[in-house]
Amino acid sequence: MNDNLHQLHCFGCGARIAGPEALPDFRCAECGDLFEVEYPGWVQRKGPDRPNPGALKWLWRERKSSSELLDQSGVWRFRELLPILDNFGNAVTLREGNTPLYHLTRTSKALGIDQLFAKHQGMNPTGSFKDTGMTAAMSVARERGFTWVACASTGNTSAAMAAYAARAGLRSLVLIPDGKIAWGKLSQAMDYGAVTCQLKADFDGCLTLLTQIVKEAPIYLLNSVNPYRLEGQKTPAFEIAEAFDWNVPDHLIVPGGNLGNSSALGKGFRELHELGLVARMPRISVIQAEGANPLVRSFEANHGASLEPVEAHTRATAIRIGNPASWRKAARVIQDTGGWCLDVSEAEIAIAKAELGAEGLGCEPASAVTLAGLKKLVKQGAIAANETVVLVLTGHTLKDADYTIDFHSGTLLTDEEARGREREIEALRRNAVVVDATPAAVLATLKGSAG
Ligand SMILES: *Cc1c(COP(=O)(O)O)cnc(C)c1O
Repeated sequence: MNDNLHQLHCFGCGARIAGPEALPDFRCAECGDLFEVEYPGWVQRKGPDRPNPGALKWLWRERKSSSELLDQSGVWRFRELLPILDNFGNAVTLREGNTPLYHLTRTSKALGIDQLFAKHQGMNPTGSFKDTGMTAAMSVARERGFTWVACASTGNTSAAMAAYAARAGLRSLVLIPDGKIAWGKLSQAMDYGAVTCQLKADFDGCLTLLTQIVKEAPIYLLNSVNPYRLEGQKTPAFEIAEAFDWNVPDHLIVPGGNLGNSSALGKGFRELHELGLVARMPRISVIQAEGANPLVRSFEANHGASLEPVEAHTRATAIRIGNPASWRKAARVIQDTGGWCLDVSEAEIAIAKAELGAEGLGCEPASAVTLAGLKKLVKQGAIAANETVVLVLTGHTLKDADYTIDFHSGTLLTDEEARGREREIEALRRNAVVVDATPAAVLATLKGSAG
């Protein structure tokens, strides 16, 4: 049995190679650009490998009640659309995906958009959407016989990699910039048994070094230059389309860091459209932080034709990226779908995160840029009241508890950052107050915090 139908297509020069021929750094030997996975059998309209839309929709629904391990994964349930393995039995899964889609009751009222939803990818096994990509790429690593995998990361990528490596019985290496350690995030990688090296280098320096290492030793690179990660990360598009009974929402809003996720979701919807499972693509917009906005600048300068790296500053660590690897792919998604590329301030991010929290939906600061961006689009009149909008919440609130506590105790933002929004912020703040251990004192506190 061979489940494998894929090849790699260079996004820059268009070269096509077989999957195992890729260089260890996943850069094209001809032009240095990134590869995208493609399935040549899908192109022939009546070819034997072209999936049948009706049969697939039925099969995927049936699998929802299956007790098979692969069927219980929200990624591998859709395996017909990611035939990247010789044998699907090699898949490494933690039952990722199957994340909830929530209606935003309060926010939809406040913004006048009735059909406003959040797809919460923070509800994945290690707390971010990175799990959906890692299950795919780790499965390839295992099938190709690697014993070591590696990534440069201080955050969610390292946690996801370490967990899936442990499940697969592989060893994992994390390279992190010295002094830039978020212990809360690194703790997961340690728990899952990763070897962690702190280097006297910045993030780009770590990735450059790792690129050299994987060329010298048989270690599999799992940063998002690895095209198989995007195959897993495209599957939330399938979940979303299915949740709307294959009528895609009008608008999808995604945070932009390295821009792998927006690229992947765009690819997912594009494939559904090309295969005839949905009638159209949603508009896909990408939101960055003001201090880490190279793609926004690129769209302002020349509508995404070239990109100048910036020095990145934002408290939303998951999108603190000045030189995004997948910018060309993401730019194409925005252009093809008629989406927008916007940036939002530190105060806008913090307020949006607290507003989501007040709906019972905790998320990472990086995820909250989606709501902050939506509010900006609504103000600009870019979104009609009858549109269906889905925000992609990328990470779990507990990944950055310090940020939340600082916001609520009023120490997160500088006066300058908060200027003009003091009352909005004050209304959202919830402090942990010290009171006497008597019923009267506690009840008096409730009176003081009405509304
Ligand atoms: C990785 C990550 C992002 C950024 O995704 P890219 O693919 O790098 O654009 C956003 N939010 C969270 C929580 C992340 O972990």
